[in-house]
Amino acid sequence: MQGSPKEATLPGIPPPEGRACRGRIAPTPSGWLHLGHAATFRVAWRRVRAAGGTLLYRTEDLDPHRCRPEYVAAALEDLRWLGLDWDEGPDCSGPHAPYRQSERLPTYRFLVEKLHRLGLIYPAPQSRREIREAAPPRSPHDGEILFPPGFRRPADAPLSPFDPRMNWRFRVPDGRKVPFADRRLGLKAFRAGRDFGDFLVWRRDSVPSYELAVVADDHAMGITEVVRGEDLLVSTARQLLLYEAFGWSPPAWFHCPLVADPDTGERLAKTHRSLALRELRKQGLTPDEVFARADGQRL
Ligand code: GLU
Repeated sequence: MQGSPKEATLPGIPPPEGRACRGRIAPTPSGWLHLGHAATFRVAWRRVRAAGGTLLYRTEDLDPHRCRPEYVAAALEDLRWLGLDWDEGPDCSGPHAPYRQSERLPTYRFLVEKLHRLGLIYPAPQSRREIREAAPPRSPHDGEILFPPGFRRPADAPLSPFDPRMNWRFRVPDGRKVPFADRRLGLKAFRAGRDFGDFLVWRRDSVPSYELAVVADDHAMGITEVVRGEDLLVSTARQLLLYEAFGWSPPAWFHCPLVADPDTGERLAKTHRSLALRELRKQGLTPDEVFARADGQRL
């Protein structure tokens, strides 16, 4: 059973904090799940099971243009086929239902208005093109564009009423270092204004940003440890600023290695159909073989 999720301990990695531990698996159904998801979700599963805690499944289907019902159903099915299970989720309910972000919009709206009242966000009417043309710097870590300094709104500018049909950005404290302890990588720190800029919390199509929704839900659902891919390390710093703004204590963090696309050597993306879990299953691979392949393709 090597590589099987049934094997509940992981050498070298201390388990989380016991029965009260709550973890989550939170896929975005904008494509078929691939080897990278299998690897990360297995770690999330094992760490919670090793501690005798509770694992929940949350469908992060915020973006109506990218998420599709067939991907929502496929993600649940693919992960069950792999042998993963969860205690709360959209297919089995639980005390924190609904577990689909598209059904939690009133919570996000309430929270964005709170950030607005606190004067921590501002409307940013610039189009993507205008932002690109301002030749903004990029984060040296995740390559994200830093919102151009010339478009930032000063903290003392008069507050306009909250309009959900506008883009709203969180004003980051320039130059401040945001440190956190990662349970796999040790101490990490990212600097506001250099590693990440003013980030979106609300989009003009009335949808909250990933950063806002994930913080809102991890807090509301009592998550004690967030397990996800290393590609989201900088997002953790952004999210810590939101925890601070709301006065909430953050969970612990565990960022997993990414899985590479064997053709390019780059991180595997959802667009790589041939490494989708469905495809591998169709080719006759067993769950153990899928996990073994994911382990062999670590970046
Ligand atoms: N929904 C995100 C994704 O599928 C993961 C979010 C998270 O784990 O914080 O990439």
